Amino acid sequence: MHNELNFSGGPGALPDTVLRQVQEAILAVPDVGLSIMGISHRSDWFASVIAELKSQLRALMGLSDDYRLLFLQGGATQQFSMVPMTLLHHARHPAQYLKTGYWSGKCIAEAQLSGPIETIWSGADAGYARLPTDEELSFSPDAPYFHYVSNETVEGLQFHRIVGRDDVPRVCDMSSDFLSRPCAFDRFDLIYAHAQKNLGPAGVTIVALRDSVLRNAPDNLPGFLDYRKQIEADSIFNTPPVFAIYVVLLTVRWLRDIGGLAAMEKINSAKAALLYRTLDDSDGFYRSRIVGDDRSMMNVTFNLATPDLERQFLAAAHAAGFSGLEGHRSVGGIRASLYNGITLPAVEKLANFMDDFRKGR
Ligand SMILES: *Cc1c(COP(=O)(O)O)cnc(C)c1O
Repeated sequence: MHNELNFSGGPGALPDTVLRQVQEAILAVPDVGLSIMGISHRSDWFASVIAELKSQLRALMGLSDDYRLLFLQGGATQQFSMVPMTLLHHARHPAQYLKTGYWSGKCIAEAQLSGPIETIWSGADAGYARLPTDEELSFSPDAPYFHYVSNETVEGLQFHRIVGRDDVPRVCDMSSDFLSRPCAFDRFDLIYAHAQKNLGPAGVTIVALRDSVLRNAPDNLPGFLDYRKQIEADSIFNTPPVFAIYVVLLTVRWLRDIGGLAAMEKINSAKAALLYRTLDDSDGFYRSRIVGDDRSMMNVTFNLATPDLERQFLAAAHAAGFSGLEGHRSVGGIRASLYNGITLPAVEKLANFMDDFRKGR
C-alpha cells in the first residue's frame, strides 16, 4: 500500500484514520450493523449523519443561520450551470467572472449558455502564470453576481485574499482548497466544492448558500437543479450518495480532532513551503510554473528541462512508490497535489526523492 505517497490532483489522498473507518463501515457501520453501501437514505441514522455533518461544517466554517448547506450530485461541473440558471434569471447586467485557469474557463463556457457573462480579467494570453492584482480588477455594482475560482487546480494558482465587492453576491468554486485553511466564508453568498480533492470520494458536492441569493430564482427549473427544492428536501430530493456523504463526515470529524482549519493551514503551509523550497533551491533543475505570491498551497506545478527528462522523473518517482505526479493532461509537466490527506512526512519523502534525482543527473 502506498496511499501515503498519492499526490494525485483528484480524486486525492484521504487521511489514513478516515480510510480505516471507511474499511470498517463497508462491512458494518458501528452501532448500525449494516454495510454503509446498504443503509437507506430514509433511515434515522442517515438523518443523523446529515444533521451532524451540517453542524460540524457550520462550526468549522463559522457560518450563521442564514446559510443553507446542501450535499448535491453532479460535481462542481453541475454548479457551473446551476449557479447561472438560478442567479442570472431576469438579470439586466452581465454576471462578472474571472478567467484565471482551466477550471474557470470551463465554468465561463457553461455559464454563457444561461445568460450574459462578462469576463473582467483573463490570464489566458499570459499562459495562466499569475492571478490579477486588485488594481487590474474593476467590479460593477450592477452585476447580479461575481464568480471566481479560489484555487486553479491545473495551473497551481491560488488566491490568498478574497476578491469582489461586498455589495454584489460573491460566488466561489472552492473545489480544490475547501477547508484547507481558515477563510471568512461569511463574505461569500454561494460557495461550492466537490468532495474529491480534500474531503472524500467523488459523488458529493457541498454547497453553502445564503437564502438571499434565491430571491429571484426562476420557477421553471427542473427540481433536481433548483436549490430551493433541494433545501426543502434537506438534500434528499432523490437518493443521495450515502457512502460519499458519510466519508465526508469522517473527514470533517478528523479536521475537528486535529484542531480545525487553523491547525490544517499550519500543516498545509509547511508542506507547500518545503516543496517550493525544493524547486527554488534546485538551480533551475526544477522550474516552478508559478513565481510570486499566487502559488498554490494545494497544487505545486513544475517542469524539468525537457519532456524527456520529465518522463524519466515520473518513471523514477513511480518506481520509488510515488503516484499521481503527472501534470494535468492540458498542460503536462509535473504536479504534486498536497491536499489535506497528505502528511508532512510524505512531502519530506518527495522532497528528498527530488533532491536525489537531481543530484543523480
Ligand atoms: C476538479 C475541479 C472541478 C471539476 O469538478 P467535477 O466534480 O469533476 O465536476 C471544478 N473546479 C475545480 C476548481 C476543480 O479543481
